[in-house]
Amino acid sequence: MNTDSAPAPLIVLDQVVKTYPGPTGPGLSGLFHALAGIDLEIRCGEFVAVVGASGSGKSTLLNLLGGIDRASAGRIVIDGRDLGAASERELTVWRGRSIGIVFQFFQLLPTLTALENVMLPMDFAGIGSPRERRQRALALLERLRIADQADKLPASLSGGQQQRVAVARALANDPPILLADEPTGNLDSRTAEALLEGLSDLVDEGLTIVMVTHEPRAMAHASRAISLADGRIVPEARADA
Ligand code: ADP
Ligand code: MG
Repeated sequence: MNTDSAPAPLIVLDQVVKTYPGPTGPGLSGLFHALAGIDLEIRCGEFVAVVGASGSGKSTLLNLLGGIDRASAGRIVIDGRDLGAASERELTVWRGRSIGIVFQFFQLLPTLTALENVMLPMDFAGIGSPRERRQRALALLERLRIADQADKLPASLSGGQQQRVAVARALANDPPILLADEPTGNLDSRTAEALLEGLSDLVDEGLTIVMVTHEPRAMAHASRAISLADGRIVPEARADA
């Protein structure tokens, strides 16, 4: 492998630590290490699966990558931006334009229609005219094959439909990076497969995805798996081609 000619990674984590106040024990500082020194590089166009037992730090890692939460120590650099050096305001603006986030339980706004939920990130970022926002939102819903539900409220959609709306919303601002926390965890296998194929297509078009999952089906679509245990990356048991 010729590392000299490789492009700079899109995402670089250098000894990233996340602690929470925790129960004290013998020899412990009273801090619980949700992440205990993560070194990681992710290149543009990778589809990375993050796997590991419940409590291993997967969601914590995703929250740090999305600038939702801050590292306690170490450095996170995404597309040349040092997240630790950014103000809250800078982080919010950056996140709105650079990161799409698909939450495990969708987190659609219940009083907005599917279409309005997808328009929301564009409204916040001030992208396009209202007409353009509506057109783009509709195009995204069409792409996710859910445009026929555009005017419904989330409560009247199935879990799979809500998840597709959530993906459309995450893509609204055309972010270079998509973070997804168990996006297929609440879907039946056919709906899950359709969603994963859709994500794979987006990766083929240049999107970088970091996806938390515990499902072999989802891992099969990823180009690489990162395995977490007790806040650390463990060597992957699965042989990579
Ligand atoms: P996973 O997503 O892999 O199930 P998480 O990243 O959610 O794990 O959590 C990792 C560990 O950090 C867990 O032990 C969890 O209880 C702890 N943790 C997560 N968030 C907090 C918090 N806000 N305060 C205290 N402990 C937390
Ligand atoms: Mg989690």
